[in-house]
Amino acid sequence: MNPFAIAAKGKGFKNALARARVITARYGLTSHKMDNILERFARLLQTYNASATFPITAVALRRNSATIQKLAQQGIEFAIHGYTHIDHSRLTAEEQVARLNQAIAAFETSQVSFRGFRCPYLRWNEGTLTALRYHRFLYDSSQGLTWNVLNGYDTPAYQRVINFYGAREASSYPALPSFQDGLVRIPYCLPDDEGLIDRLQLASMKAQSEIWLNILEQTYKLGELFTLGLHPERIDLLKEPLAATLAQARSLSPAVWVARLDEIATWWLERTETKLTITPSTHPDQFEVRVDGAKSVTVLARNLEVAGPTRPWFDQYDQVMSKTFTIAATQRPVIGISPQSAKALVDFLRQQGYLIEISKDSHNYPLYLHHPEFKPEDERPLLGKIENGSWPLLRLGRWPNGARSALCVTGDIDALTLWDYGLRTLNK
Ligand SMILES: [Zn+2]
Repeated sequence: MNPFAIAAKGKGFKNALARARVITARYGLTSHKMDNILERFARLLQTYNASATFPITAVALRRNSATIQKLAQQGIEFAIHGYTHIDHSRLTAEEQVARLNQAIAAFETSQVSFRGFRCPYLRWNEGTLTALRYHRFLYDSSQGLTWNVLNGYDTPAYQRVINFYGAREASSYPALPSFQDGLVRIPYCLPDDEGLIDRLQLASMKAQSEIWLNILEQTYKLGELFTLGLHPERIDLLKEPLAATLAQARSLSPAVWVARLDEIATWWLERTETKLTITPSTHPDQFEVRVDGAKSVTVLARNLEVAGPTRPWFDQYDQVMSKTFTIAATQRPVIGISPQSAKALVDFLRQQGYLIEISKDSHNYPLYLHHPEFKPEDERPLLGKIENGSWPLLRLGRWPNGARSALCVTGDIDALTLWDYGLRTLNK
């Protein structure tokens, strides 16, 4: 039966249908065209040898499982975007556990694997994290992070949606994964497609591209992660800005690691487990270094004399191309931490790839930190202090194979057909 014949039966459905028509008119979509949108998105990504992560509501997945399965086989990652498209910040942990149960069952029935989650409207609460940990998700990507890239394009509508999302400012918080009690949290960068088109109302491709290229430039300079948000239904409107961003990312050296969210979360854990051992050599003022971990791990040396193969990397760093080598240094090139310092400081520095030692003896280290309290607001200033310093430092790079920064294309699929759009507005 034609779904619109059913839709015509109820008043709620009529309103939903009206909204769906507004949406399809705005984006020039028809239900038939919608089926091809993901294919077109995937083809554009392939041009740049890139993949993507698309969080999808379980109900949209169930109605389109053949299309989704096909794309998953082509290497697109799918994550859970709620059972239906509702505001999770209004639900208790128990309610979220139950809704995730339903969503997981739908993914399993559709034979589409998943490892991550993003809240509808980027709105989460502590119960969301509890529920994700309960269900052993690898990662959550619901925290919005807004970049200062508007160049006078700002609008009250954009500020309103930023507040609604509970987004943080990238000038105060790093755009990096963070492993917290068994769950990797990955921020979602803003403005995304909705910000560019609906809130900032940027019609010019040049202005849209400028904003994303600016975020790419800043994340590259900082060695951080750009999660570029593009809801697949807008691929035709934003294909040039996306292509410009991917082309620029692919042209940079050292490279930008273009990866899916599951790859980024897995890497973050794997790299954190890498062991870097520094032992005094038989020669004075020399240390033997040994790296035990993934082959792709990046070893970086700043202002250090390295006996072993190196190549210039970025800024003051050289990349060490061997996993065992000798360095000349009067002090161990690691960061000293006072025993009274907060566990959060230790966790944070380890996750960045820095080598740390907890010690009472502050004189043994080029940098010695004493922070009995360490809050997320302290992370960005501390990174600035370490990275802008010039004392000898040995560290692991954040990203694999010598990459300077990371880029993930990601976009939520709230609905795939006109019919899904209608139902979305009814939270069905
Ligand atoms: Zn959504």
